[in-house]
Amino acid sequence: MNVLVINCGSSSLKFQLINSDSEQVLAKGLCERIGIDGSLTYQPAGEEKVKTDKEMPTHTEAIQFVIDALTDAQTGVVKSLEEIGAVGHRVVHGGEKFASSVVITDEVYQAIEECNDLAPLHNPANLIGIAACQKLMPGTPMVAVFDTAFHQTMPQKAYMYGLPYEYYEKYKVRRYGFHGTSHSFVSKRAAELVGKPYDQVKTIVCHLGNGASVCAVENGKSVDTSMGLTPLEGLVMGTRSGDIDPAILEFIAKKENLDIAGLMNMLNKKSGVFGLSNNLSSDFRDLSAGAAEGNVPAKIALEVFSYRVAKYIGSYAAAMNGVDVIAFTAGIGENDGGVREMVMQYLGYLGVEMDEKANATRGEEITISTPDSKVTVMVIPTNEELAIARETVALI
Ligand code: ADP
Repeated sequence: MNVLVINCGSSSLKFQLINSDSEQVLAKGLCERIGIDGSLTYQPAGEEKVKTDKEMPTHTEAIQFVIDALTDAQTGVVKSLEEIGAVGHRVVHGGEKFASSVVITDEVYQAIEECNDLAPLHNPANLIGIAACQKLMPGTPMVAVFDTAFHQTMPQKAYMYGLPYEYYEKYKVRRYGFHGTSHSFVSKRAAELVGKPYDQVKTIVCHLGNGASVCAVENGKSVDTSMGLTPLEGLVMGTRSGDIDPAILEFIAKKENLDIAGLMNMLNKKSGVFGLSNNLSSDFRDLSAGAAEGNVPAKIALEVFSYRVAKYIGSYAAAMNGVDVIAFTAGIGENDGGVREMVMQYLGYLGVEMDEKANATRGEEITISTPDSKVTVMVIPTNEELAIARETVALI
């Protein structure tokens, strides 16, 4: 079956058409600047990508252009819409309502809407994408796959904040975690690669991309993860601060005369390795190049980032009373051997021994610890779209 995977943002929409039998991507692309002017980038498998400007006042036009491209007589990859058996939608926040993926019904749509408060930037956009697809593809089954669902197995001691309990009761203020599709995909693959049943292995997944999080997966279940109510908590990220002393907010608000919106903008957009590197870059390629040329803030940013990852690994090894596999994934985790090495330097006490040659490779599935290492350390490229396609097919 062919599954259309949709990841819809407020002004953009990424898509992949995946054949679920061969697990091959037939075509992929994205629509950008929806509601502003608009463009479609489209790439059938094995061919060059082509970007065309297209007027896209709403997401409905964007999806129509995607369908037109996929079914085009020359550049299309299917003959008609009938060859698309299902649509899988990435949805950011499922709150406490969704502990797994679901087939989208009117009730489900409403329940996702009720989670909008928890992810005001993301969920409404995801819903717009769902509504647009439903309009243009009536009768095609659709599935919602949530970033938060995998973490619904976290025990209460891991998800409660040290805040008044009434905020949990009234507003559901608690830790939810994100990147669940990736943590689930990578931890499953790690178990396969070490040849152990998924429910008998302790894995720590380090999803290190622009947004970054660590997850403790014990016997197939997420038991803790570094992001919280929102994706701001945890690791130092590209431009997000991660964990800080909350009292800094009052201090900086007074000094810099910032209101809540200004503070949130600072924490989400101006912090992380970008802020630490004195605004050099949020991209680790630039930071490594800068550090190699003697740029001190760039070096500090890399050190702070790696140290924070290592501290989370340590705390999750404690939470699970041990760890069998540590897996690195996403843009930095898959490609940046330098950062992986900096992290692994802290893990000697766990019996981690790095294989230098293996760690020098980039973007491929590989074990980067030595055969004698007490913990197996791996690079496992994530594939969230494939995971969404698999979930979609399993449900329908
Ligand atoms: P997201 O999906 O969160 O936007 P990605 O997982 O695509 O992020 O990761 C993007 C980041 O990965 C870039 O900002 C960059 O820091 C890092 N990255 C990508 N390629 C490389 C590379 N070759 N070397 C080091 N870092 C890289």
